[in-house]
Amino acid sequence: MFYFDPVYFIFILPGLGLALFATFLTKSTFSKYSKVKSSKGFTGAEAAFEMLKRSGIGDVKVEPVRGRLTDHYDPTSKTLRLSEDVYSSTSLAAIGVACHEAGHAIQHAHGYVMLGFRTALVPATSFCSSLYAWVIMFGFFFSAPKLILIGVAMCAMAVVFSIVTLPVEWDASARAKLAMVDVSLLSPEECEEAGKVLNAAFLTYLASAITAVLTLLYYLYRLGLIGGRR
Ligand SMILES: [Zn+2]
Repeated sequence: MFYFDPVYFIFILPGLGLALFATFLTKSTFSKYSKVKSSKGFTGAEAAFEMLKRSGIGDVKVEPVRGRLTDHYDPTSKTLRLSEDVYSSTSLAAIGVACHEAGHAIQHAHGYVMLGFRTALVPATSFCSSLYAWVIMFGFFFSAPKLILIGVAMCAMAVVFSIVTLPVEWDASARAKLAMVDVSLLSPEECEEAGKVLNAAFLTYLASAITAVLTLLYYLYRLGLIGGRR
């Protein structure tokens, strides 16, 4: 009964709506600007390489990875992996995404505090995110309030992670937008269009953070800790 609570959907509806819109916007903006070639002709991989070079970083590998929108920076092996759509494409979308990922590599090299914090939270967050709903459910099933509270604390962990992610993603995009003009990878007009791809992607992170907060609020409401009734 707890699981099929319609109140849950009322709580998370704004987050869910924003998430759907953000996913649509990211896909359509990426698709639109992946058809627009940049005037200077850099590929995504070259753009990332040039941006890293400008920041004095020479020990980060840039390599292609399978899949769509699978681009990421791996801090353990100092490798920037760009999807095939981004690695060898000269489109505005490809350069935007590649520079955003290079932004994460620069955050890592410069010891950007929030990135370190987010990386440190990853193991605990993946553990908590996959188990908290079960812990809360068992807590209700066995009428164990302490277990329910542990579950809610685990849910709060996921909220902290999704909120810490926001400045990290915003900062990587801000670094990318600056570098695209400073390193002369794109013209200022092209940079603005590539920036739209990054803004849409940021909206997806914002939507997950809002959904995580609303989920936590829902559990707090069900426990009678907010809203004045159980
Ligand atoms: Zn990112």
